[in-house]
Amino acid sequence: WKNAPPTLRILTQLVRAYGPREFTIYDDERVTYEANYRAVSHLAHRLREMGVGKGDRVALAMRNLPEWPVIYFATVSIGAIIVPLNAWWTGGELEYALNDSGAKLLFVDGERHERLKTCYDKIPALERAIVSRARGDLDGAALLDALIGTPGSWAALDDIGLPEADVLPDDDATIFYTSGTTGSPKGALGTHRNFVTNIMSSGYTAARAMLRRGEIPPEAPEHKTMLLVIPLFHVTACSAAMMTLVAAGGTMIFMRRWEPELAMEIIQREKVNMTGGVPTIAWQLIEHPNRANYDLSSLESIAYGGAPSAPELVKRIYEEFGALPGNGWGMTETTATVTQHSGEDYLARPSSAGIPVAAADIKVMDVEGRQDLPIGEVGELWARGPMIVKGYWNKPEATAETFVNGWVRTGDLARIDEEGFLYVVDRAKDIIIRGGENIYSSEVEDVLYAYPGVMDCALVGVPHKTLGEEPAAVVHLAPGASASESDLQDWVRHRLAGFKVPVKVLFAPETLPRNANGKILKKDLKALFVSDEVG
Ligand code: ATP
Ligand code: MG
Repeated sequence: WKNAPPTLRILTQLVRAYGPREFTIYDDERVTYEANYRAVSHLAHRLREMGVGKGDRVALAMRNLPEWPVIYFATVSIGAIIVPLNAWWTGGELEYALNDSGAKLLFVDGERHERLKTCYDKIPALERAIVSRARGDLDGAALLDALIGTPGSWAALDDIGLPEADVLPDDDATIFYTSGTTGSPKGALGTHRNFVTNIMSSGYTAARAMLRRGEIPPEAPEHKTMLLVIPLFHVTACSAAMMTLVAAGGTMIFMRRWEPELAMEIIQREKVNMTGGVPTIAWQLIEHPNRANYDLSSLESIAYGGAPSAPELVKRIYEEFGALPGNGWGMTETTATVTQHSGEDYLARPSSAGIPVAAADIKVMDVEGRQDLPIGEVGELWARGPMIVKGYWNKPEATAETFVNGWVRTGDLARIDEEGFLYVVDRAKDIIIRGGENIYSSEVEDVLYAYPGVMDCALVGVPHKTLGEEPAAVVHLAPGASASESDLQDWVRHRLAGFKVPVKVLFAPETLPRNANGKILKKDLKALFVSDEVG
């Protein structure tokens, strides 16, 4: 273990130190740190026996289950590359990523197995599928239980330790796919070092906030419980949440599916300290009619990232839960957070995504990528630091375009203020150009969000013969709130230049359509206007 990369040292040392503490909770299944470690070591040995070697890809298509972290850690502990797949994907999408990554082994839950079993013979590199919680026929696949048992039996496994492995910090560890918001998903190839960077970042941010209040950060972190409701197959949950929690000896609670009332029940019963993930989750808790029936006072922070959020939300989290709001900017290519924002800083600057974590650099460049822009000007955001992945798996051209001299070109348009706070204004691909005038979504969305009762909204560009594009909005109102198209247009007209006023406002009966990572599907919303289905 002398040469073991930090990810694995954390697993063996820290994780074992917390022994009897609960590591994961899922319904009535409670897995301790010790039991998790034993399951990881047994599975690592089994993987070796199955011929999985350094650099081999092992795919994982599963909802958030106690098995997920076990498979993740066992795979990376022997130097193989874990490829978490989006559990929302259809059989065809899963098949694409399995072929793209060239995985030879697949861990899958019963639901995904049903979805995939007709595709297996179209994935030539795949040697074996191993199923957890099978629902029907195994169809030639093996059962995970046969290898390491069910979660309830892990504590009784022998303590055999992890196999010897020659794995270095800069070795490949993960392929996470991007969300596919702007095109087809790309596999981002991350290393062990990329992953531990997040642990240091979050510790630093918390310590810095305490130091600013004149308090001394505690030496050992307190035991924290997190209700993790976002999917582990995305870096936000796996890296920003799970890795940092593991390093601090925290407990992770999974939910079968997101249900606000059940979430409140769990928060009360398990005295949950942290939750969040994406802004919608916080909104649904805030707006829930039965909220007063639950004791949610254990909540200390509600943090999210991955998508723009309403400035109003920041205030509401603080006022209604007494919890600290948090936000972070990052992308799959940065293994999670590059900027972080929380507490007082966030309350004072609710439209910002925060300042860079200790190890990250950010800058704003002109869109051609030729020069740095002065403070306050909007351009493309570039980021650099030990959290940036090596590149895209199997995509040398996209890698060369996006990764330039250690920097990643993010495709986001942003500005940085005098104090170093980052403001993301739009994705370069979503910017609306109306007769030569630039309209950034977030500016107009922030104004719409400030209208009483607006819970969710998005600005999209719709085609116009002579102007090129015009802004249109889709808005979802809180239960009981009311507003008309012209109310909202007048509201924007009084606050922003005339060319930014949405020419059309569509009211959605529910929150807007999002992908698995909480990103609004603007492509789908645009189609609503183009196909003239405007109601
Ligand atoms: P694809 O690259 O496949 O089109 P994607 O960019 O949505 O999909 P992710 O890597 O999951 O895939 O998301 C990163 C993007 O999410 C960022 O580029 C940015 O646009 C957005 N984002 C992340 N965090 C924030 C935040 N705090 N505020 C606003 N936007 C954010
Ligand atoms: Mg992207």
